Amino acid sequence: MPAPAGSRLNAMTIDVEDYFHVSVFDGVLPRSSWDSMESRVVANTERLLDLFDEHAVRGTFFVLGWVAERFPDLVRSIGARGHELASHGYAHRLVYEQTPEIFRDDVRRAKGLIEDISGHRVKGYRAPSFSVTARSLWALDVLLEEGHRYDASIFPIRHDRYGIPDAPRWPHPMTLDENRADLERHARDFAARSGFTYTVLDPSDRGVIGCVYIYPDTKGTDEAAVNSWVRATRAASDAALREVVSAWLSEAWPFERISYAGAAD
Ligand SMILES: [Zn+2]
Repeated sequence: MPAPAGSRLNAMTIDVEDYFHVSVFDGVLPRSSWDSMESRVVANTERLLDLFDEHAVRGTFFVLGWVAERFPDLVRSIGARGHELASHGYAHRLVYEQTPEIFRDDVRRAKGLIEDISGHRVKGYRAPSFSVTARSLWALDVLLEEGHRYDASIFPIRHDRYGIPDAPRWPHPMTLDENRADLERHARDFAARSGFTYTVLDPSDRGVIGCVYIYPDTKGTDEAAVNSWVRATRAASDAALREVVSAWLSEAWPFERISYAGAAD
């Protein structure tokens, strides 16, 4: 498949985790042993950061939430040295071995930790061992609802643990079919009153500014998970939209508690 037209951008990405987190050790090293293992992630990542500085390279660092929690200075250092902070999830469990609910808690916890520590908004996600596969594509919807803007988990190869062999090799937006399935799901949720999605239009020209998603907690509490995004060409409206939506939620909706994705901004 040819590269997209125009100059090629080479993306450098790093997964920030310890040697004992990798999936090949699942079942050999119990998770309860992680805290007693000698950690090398700080020293190794700092060596990489120095090398990157030396060669004026900037990259995206997908940080494991478990690591962020124990080594917050490392997270701050990655951000302060000009790299993009992204999420590698919290507990390094394969996506297709989790329920959507457990997966949601895991990605929310990791994103919140990295954002709170660094003050940077986390947009990217990479699954442990690239474990977004044909049987865990539901994960993309959860990531979107939790405020992620892109996923870097789908490996276009054959492999025993991961891969979607016919996936595009280059960064791509959702296909039309995926987009339609997503719209239909939100329409079904709206009809069932289990989730509420709104398109935000510019009153002056009816152009689309972005979307707002309101999902009340399914356990019958007074909580709701809220997310919104604006189109790249409307990036300047992001803060204003979040403000308006927050005010609207507290005035017109009955929720006691709102978790607004990306609120660390
Ligand atoms: Zn990993």
